Amino acid sequence: MKGNNRIVTMLLLLSTVISCGSVQQGNKNDVAAGSTVVAQHGQLQVIGTQLSNEKGDPVVLRGASLGWHNLWPRFYNREAVKWLAGDWKCTVVRAAMGLEIDDNYRDNSEFALQCITPVIEAAIDNGIYVIIDFHAHNKYTEEAKGFFTEMATRYGDYPNVIYEIWNEPDYFEWDEVKAYSEEVIGVIRSIDPDNIILVGSPHWDQDLHLVAEDPIQDVTNIMYTMHFYAATHEAWLRERTDDAITSGIPVFVSECGGSEANGDGRLGTEEWKTYVEWMESRKISWVAWSVSDKNETCSMLLPRASSEGNWSEELLKPWGKLARNSIRRGN
Ligand code: MG
Repeated sequence: MKGNNRIVTMLLLLSTVISCGSVQQGNKNDVAAGSTVVAQHGQLQVIGTQLSNEKGDPVVLRGASLGWHNLWPRFYNREAVKWLAGDWKCTVVRAAMGLEIDDNYRDNSEFALQCITPVIEAAIDNGIYVIIDFHAHNKYTEEAKGFFTEMATRYGDYPNVIYEIWNEPDYFEWDEVKAYSEEVIGVIRSIDPDNIILVGSPHWDQDLHLVAEDPIQDVTNIMYTMHFYAATHEAWLRERTDDAITSGIPVFVSECGGSEANGDGRLGTEEWKTYVEWMESRKISWVAWSVSDKNETCSMLLPRASSEGNWSEELLKPWGKLARNSIRRGN
């Protein structure tokens, strides 16, 4: 199974490189000529603990994550990304390529790449940043190395691209996550020397205190993810994150929400506002979960919302309205 997937991936890589080369060159020129967020900030870098632009000035990205590609493939299209960039003022979107649940990347890599490719290319076309998220809760080292070899080869020259190499390690020790991360980072850095790489930590990206005790060494432009759900995660997670930052750990909130930690339950509007104020005061970039239409609190859209954007206010669920307002206000 895994061997077949790798062969399919290699063939897709070859065909995509051959077919997309000229198109991508055109996109790159468009971005350089425009006044988009990527034209403005260019190649991102990490200075100290701060995400910074090409000139070295601090940058805060704010945006939305698509849901799992294998659960909500209908939102993985160019028009949805264009709408998020234009109407929502997202400066970053996240493509959450699922490694679990039916029809995931391990089962069907061709479909996964069909989903994420237009999202990445639309982000490039619209001059915003895009997180390529290896959306796994378990460890798939060989699959990650193959996948990021392909992504770095295709997109490593684009300043738009951010790699997230392990969404949320659930029940793994930090030394396991660290070893995995070092291996995957090595693969990416052998192809792409500079784009930002986001690294996870144990317990759904909450154990930044363990990272702070033993961070990855001798690699530039990596940041560690923290994920929160405001109705569940109280001040302790902000305090733990503050401590990590103080000890030199760069933090990127690549997924967050106003709901409870299971994605459902109460929408904690006040707690969300507290979290946003906290992130803004520390210049932490953040991405809200998720552009999807399930009957749950953290899904932003109603089932009758179109797949291609054009989402009027009445098509946004309460969390969708709150997230959109927070993104627009910040950006
Ligand atoms: Mg690069």
